[in-house]
Amino acid sequence: MNTLRAWQRTKQDAGFGSITWSQSYGGAELGAEYERGFLAVEEEFQTPEGHEAVTISLDLVGPTILSCGTDEQKDRYLRPLRRADEHWCQLFSEPGAGSDLASVVTKAERDGDGWRVTGQKVWTSGAQFADYGYILTLTDPQAPRHRGLTAFLIDMHSPGVEVRPLRQMSGGSSFNEVFLDGVWVADADRLGAVGGGWQVAITTLGFERVVGSRLTGGAPNFCDLLMLTARHLGRASDLIVRQGLAAVWADQKIRWLITRRADAARQAGGVPGAEGSIGKLAMTEGLRRIADVASLILGPRLVADSGEWGTFSWSEFVCGVPGSRVAGGTDEVQRNIIAERVLGLPREPR
Ligand SMILES: Cc1cc2nc3c(=O)[nH]c(=O)nc-3n(C[C@H](O)[C@H](O)[C@H](O)COP(=O)(O)OP(=O)(O)OC[C@H]3O[C@@H](n4cnc5c(N)ncnc54)[C@H](O)[C@@H]3O)c2cc1C
Repeated sequence: MNTLRAWQRTKQDAGFGSITWSQSYGGAELGAEYERGFLAVEEEFQTPEGHEAVTISLDLVGPTILSCGTDEQKDRYLRPLRRADEHWCQLFSEPGAGSDLASVVTKAERDGDGWRVTGQKVWTSGAQFADYGYILTLTDPQAPRHRGLTAFLIDMHSPGVEVRPLRQMSGGSSFNEVFLDGVWVADADRLGAVGGGWQVAITTLGFERVVGSRLTGGAPNFCDLLMLTARHLGRASDLIVRQGLAAVWADQKIRWLITRRADAARQAGGVPGAEGSIGKLAMTEGLRRIADVASLILGPRLVADSGEWGTFSWSEFVCGVPGSRVAGGTDEVQRNIIAERVLGLPREPR
């Protein structure tokens, strides 16, 4: 985590950390093709492994503050966020609100020139490292659904915030339960209008799907890694393995093209829409295929740590793939969005 932080700072200070961002907030104001060019060069080197605390800050919270925040919020939060000096988490999901995010019940009640927030969030990635959280709350239980919600920027070190890590089947604890007991938030840290939280959340979900379609990191890397592993284990001439490798390569090409289309839409000033769902779904299908091919190549070596190069290290990846089908909107929800907004099929009964 510290090396990743240092890497992000180095990039930011050298002018490569926020290539497409406005100069007012530490960016270079260049087109997405410049960012892609830099990423392609970066992928040729071994750099610190990604971490959800950094991804959420840079790819979800930062763009949301940029889209929906006040000038004061942008001035205060964006530069340290881009340098990874301050980490953020996304406090959306609750025990009773995941896909149906508008059902959140964590409430925020007026208290002087601020608000008191009380409730429970869950699956909060990176909360144990976060300095700040971006939270969706219920401020008007009487209002029609989607109109009673308000978003806030909350200091995770405030009295009343308790973070409890959850243990995953991979052995790690990347996400948490977060309990909030009367946590005070200044009205100046409200993100968007009172009752406008749904629009703010939708903006973030659009960014999340686009990022979700890129979560695998460099497109050619998994294919190269699988090929190296197949060669190392003498499986590279197996017909079924070769077919799997070709399918992984094709998936990655398709995902790259989808990403380029989303980038072009973003560059033209649009907020990511349904193409994010297509990218997210393509990403999870691609990850599933990579996990299948890795399992085919490795066989029992996947679960037995023999110390042999390039074998057991795949086990954490394979265990993490089911989670990617849920995080950032499940596969079923992405299919609903594509059906309704891209294909124009009738809306599902609500
Ligand atoms: C790795 C990981 C990281 C995460 N990080 C965060 C985070 O940082 N912050 C955060 O707020 N949340 C986070 N989440 C939570 C994630 O957003 C939710 O898990 C997700 O939205 C699904 O909600 P749920 O778990 O409540 O499942 P539910 O919404 O209860 O869904 C259960 C099942 O029902 C299906 N389903 C639900 N509605 C429909 C429908 N309308 N049509 C068809 N099928 C449907 C779903 O596809 C799923 O299979 C993370 C989750 C994972 C796995």
